[in-house]
Amino acid sequence: MAKKALIVGAGLAGTCLAHQMISKEIEITMLDQGSNHSSAIAAGMVNPMVFRRMNKSWRLDEFLPEARVFYQEIEQLLHMKFYRPIVIRRFFSSLDERENWQRKSALDEYAEYLEKLTLEDLEHQSAKNLFGSGRVRHAFWIDAANWVNAHKSYFRKSGVLLQEEFNDAVWHPETRTYSGVSYDYVVFCLGYRQKEELTFSFLPLQQTKGQTLLIESAVLSETESLNRKCFVLPHGDGRFRVGATYEWNNSTLHTTPEAREQLLQNLSSLGDYQPNVIDQVAGVRPTVLDRRPLMGQHPDYQQVFIFNGLGTKGYMMAPTLARELTELITLNKPLHPETDISRFTGK
Ligand SMILES: Cc1cc2nc3c(=O)[nH]c(=O)nc-3n(C[C@H](O)[C@H](O)[C@H](O)COP(=O)(O)OP(=O)(O)OC[C@H]3O[C@@H](n4cnc5c(N)ncnc54)[C@H](O)[C@@H]3O)c2cc1C
Repeated sequence: MAKKALIVGAGLAGTCLAHQMISKEIEITMLDQGSNHSSAIAAGMVNPMVFRRMNKSWRLDEFLPEARVFYQEIEQLLHMKFYRPIVIRRFFSSLDERENWQRKSALDEYAEYLEKLTLEDLEHQSAKNLFGSGRVRHAFWIDAANWVNAHKSYFRKSGVLLQEEFNDAVWHPETRTYSGVSYDYVVFCLGYRQKEELTFSFLPLQQTKGQTLLIESAVLSETESLNRKCFVLPHGDGRFRVGATYEWNNSTLHTTPEAREQLLQNLSSLGDYQPNVIDQVAGVRPTVLDRRPLMGQHPDYQQVFIFNGLGTKGYMMAPTLARELTELITLNKPLHPETDISRFTGK
């Protein structure tokens, strides 16, 4: 008989996990209260680089190829377009940064991602350019609002998604029984709200608010995502997402004039694009101080798991991490040690 799993939370973590579990023939039920504030409003950027130190993103060579294939497969399954390749053009903030790029782009392990600098890059004029610019290869973005909405209707149509608030009063972790139904596995994917639910509230999950603007501009480049102090992501038809703020230990969901001002200021440091703000959104990232996800089995309850802490790079990491969690659940294959919550529980 097929094993049964309850996935609590249908954001990026819950939906990626659902696909991975279904591929292992696990019968899933999903539960979500219906108002997603992180996965749906995210810019969905997958940037292979961490520009601050000009390093590759953590486990990039594992995450990126798997994510690319995964998202394109889900596009076919759901008959919906999410996956959008893009070139990121980084405008250097200093001579040091440019030299760092030049040094790294000559190394085999970076050559795949950093284009060698050309005269055109150094003199590129789509932003104020004192130190030159460089192009990042293999970046893409996922249309995040489409991702969440398409999954909502897909899983609702398949009869597996229940729209309700998780209720601790009808949850018995010892027997994995929720509202009178027993499951072989239960996985919590509640994003920043995990703290409010008792089962995993002991984990050091942080809440990092972020805001972005949607702007119109007739003069911005539609073909590249510009980056320095902020990112500018072309959405087509003269619209651009500009982001993002980082507001630590803040779980409020309203947009603020201060964030709008900060984002417009950051944008103006790139150039005068005469932006017309047409929308502003806010959400809360589930982050962890050591910048690693929170995954694994509950220290006291067998077959009760967590998949959280996706932080700022969720769209790149989630497909691989969801597969790895599924392999822990079905094959008892150990997680990557840096992701396992045993680093906090000692179990
Ligand atoms: C402004 C901003 C920009 C971002 N940009 C990027 C980006 O460019 N690239 C990138 O990779 N990442 C980005 N992120 C981060 C990304 O959004 C997160 O890593 C990821 O979406 C987290 O997914 P999640 O499923 O863990 O959480 P969530 O998306 O929060 O999903 C949790 C789900 O659980 C449900 N839920 C919560 N509590 C309950 C409850 N009690 N009962 C029932 N259901 C419940 C919610 O409705 C929700 O659907 C950004 C985030 C923000 C805020």
